[in-house]
Amino acid sequence: HEKPPLGRISTTCPYCGVGCGVRAAVDHSEGDPLHPANGGWLCVKGSALHDTLTKEGRLLAPRMAGQPVAWPEAIEGIATAISESVRDYGPESVAFYLSGQLLTEDYYIVNKLAKGFIATPHVDTNSRLCMSSAVSAHKRAFGEDCVPACYNDLELADLLVLAGSNAAWAHPVLYQRMKAAHRSGRRVVVIDPRKTATTEWADLHLQLRPGTDALLFNGLLAWLHARQALALEYIRQHCNGFEETLALARSCAPSIRVVARGCDLSDADVERFYQWFAETPKTVTAFSQGINQSVSGTDKANAIINCHLATGRVGKPGASPFSLTGQPNAMGGREVGGLANTLAAHMDYDSPGAQRRVSDFWHSRQIACGPGLRAVELFEAVHRGDIRVLWVMGTNPAVSLPDSQRVQSALARCPTLIVSDCMEKTDTTEHADILLPAAGWGEKDGTVTNSERRISRQRRFLPLPAQVRPDWQIVRDVARALGHGHAFDYHRPADIFREHAALSGYGNGGERIFDISALAQLSNQAYDELQPVQWPVTGGNAGAWLQTPRLFSSGRFPTPDGRARMVPVAALSPAQQPTPRHPLVVNTGRVRDQWHTMTRTGLTPRLFAHRSEPFIELHPCDIAGFGLIEGALATATGSGGAAYTGRVRAHEGQRAGEIFVPIHWNGRFASSALASNLIRPVVDPISGQPEGKHGVAMIRPL
Ligand code: SF4
Repeated sequence: HEKPPLGRISTTCPYCGVGCGVRAAVDHSEGDPLHPANGGWLCVKGSALHDTLTKEGRLLAPRMAGQPVAWPEAIEGIATAISESVRDYGPESVAFYLSGQLLTEDYYIVNKLAKGFIATPHVDTNSRLCMSSAVSAHKRAFGEDCVPACYNDLELADLLVLAGSNAAWAHPVLYQRMKAAHRSGRRVVVIDPRKTATTEWADLHLQLRPGTDALLFNGLLAWLHARQALALEYIRQHCNGFEETLALARSCAPSIRVVARGCDLSDADVERFYQWFAETPKTVTAFSQGINQSVSGTDKANAIINCHLATGRVGKPGASPFSLTGQPNAMGGREVGGLANTLAAHMDYDSPGAQRRVSDFWHSRQIACGPGLRAVELFEAVHRGDIRVLWVMGTNPAVSLPDSQRVQSALARCPTLIVSDCMEKTDTTEHADILLPAAGWGEKDGTVTNSERRISRQRRFLPLPAQVRPDWQIVRDVARALGHGHAFDYHRPADIFREHAALSGYGNGGERIFDISALAQLSNQAYDELQPVQWPVTGGNAGAWLQTPRLFSSGRFPTPDGRARMVPVAALSPAQQPTPRHPLVVNTGRVRDQWHTMTRTGLTPRLFAHRSEPFIELHPCDIAGFGLIEGALATATGSGGAAYTGRVRAHEGQRAGEIFVPIHWNGRFASSALASNLIRPVVDPISGQPEGKHGVAMIRPL
């Protein structure tokens, strides 16, 4: 193990998709003033990062069957389990479940081993729970999974629409940037069923009925058309599908009255939003989990994109749809193809020539040849016994996936469960047959990509504990033990990054949008010193890379005919509706100072000051109506029969008949407070993203 550099180094925050630059040391974290994402700002989570650099709870040695073992034994154990499973049950009996916390280099090497050498397509990631609906919508509309805009557009917009986003808590530094850029005449519309810290800033809060976003945006498209406010010449030149899209929008949202009733809004508020959208060329609609985590999340995102295409507002300064990514490297996982439905880079299995191109590039003899199972389906396959070796890396699906009891049962039944994690005890590691101590933030080196397509370095500034290893190295050693050493001759993350960059440009010919092949020749030193860079990177050098802040400004899209596609969208209802047995609608989300299942943020008391315990927020009228007492404990029981217990909080900003629970608490902190117990495993059929924002429940005092 090399010695880490002394003093503060520039790295990237491991939490949300804003991707803030951090100047970090063992006892200090501060915003990097030179990083374009944050210009020196950090939120409370980022500024408490050094408080979480503790050995408390760390997994410090490999284990098999609960006993510490040496690395060679663990690697051999994994290779044997995979080989035997492939021999006896076929390659598709092996699966990988990854994480938006992994670095791009980790993602790349796992994807290569799984799809290119084990020949299993079953590689999915917790990014499935985060933004896979946005991915599907981008592909449908633009032909590629691309965010057309950059953070600067959120500042330039004269009308900022935040749909399904509590950015003040979930993307705090970006929210601060948006606020700091506020000026006279600029307007903010927030679309959210709850009043939140973000809605406090809004000029107009559309507190709509949960799940009705597609109706609202269909109505907008129809209204803009009726007011002759569409960019018909742009549509004629650059878009397909307009007539069909408009026809469906008009049939399901024929008038403001119909939209207002369906969304449970006032006619005046709906009209005000439509009027502002019509009269403001510089409009950005930023959308996040409130849109994505739905059985119709892809349609909702496309309904938003349709309105932007129809007004010619895509990829222009201050005018674009903008998917706000949840995790630090959700975008990086997408770049390497680390989703079950993609092969590698941005190539799908059915992209012309993709399988041959990738297998030639990887020098693999047998490659996975069709899409794999997506997160919810994957764990069902584990439960059925179809998946016999599952390797979970850097994530805690026992808490984060819907119907956590079913997922825990699947994990317990899996013949060989391998888990790589920094932490010894999580709800998932307790089921592991082979447990691998992975390097954490500050101990590993690589790259991540944020919501605006900006690749930044995460750098090591801590010594690696003796038995702890970075994920890429663990995967490389398993690949070598499986006999694939010739294709996994990596000695450092830079070796992997160069290969990843070279694959990104494969078959480019001006059509592949994801292109960082200009970075494929980076020297080790240039990789170490790489400054944040926004893809596509079309040339240049370390002094001045040719970057691309915006995409599709010219109106040309990476589809076969170069035209964007407007997608007809039916405004579907959520999968579950309240019943007399389960009369309350459940919404879930983040609190300001915690991250995911708290395996890191739960390490510092400072981050519990804001919300110290699990809670259930209700409108005061429901507290009385259900015989609850504010401040006392209550139990919500979902339609699957599992429960969530938390302290009752009154919130005037909660719609009556709806509750909100935070997603963070896990078995280590409060085993009775798993929000996923209230969410059924119903998914968007296009994206496979679960409906994390909509369940139903009954509530009773404890
Ligand atoms: Fe980290 Fe996100 Fe906070 Fe920035 S806004 S410091 S990336 S958690």
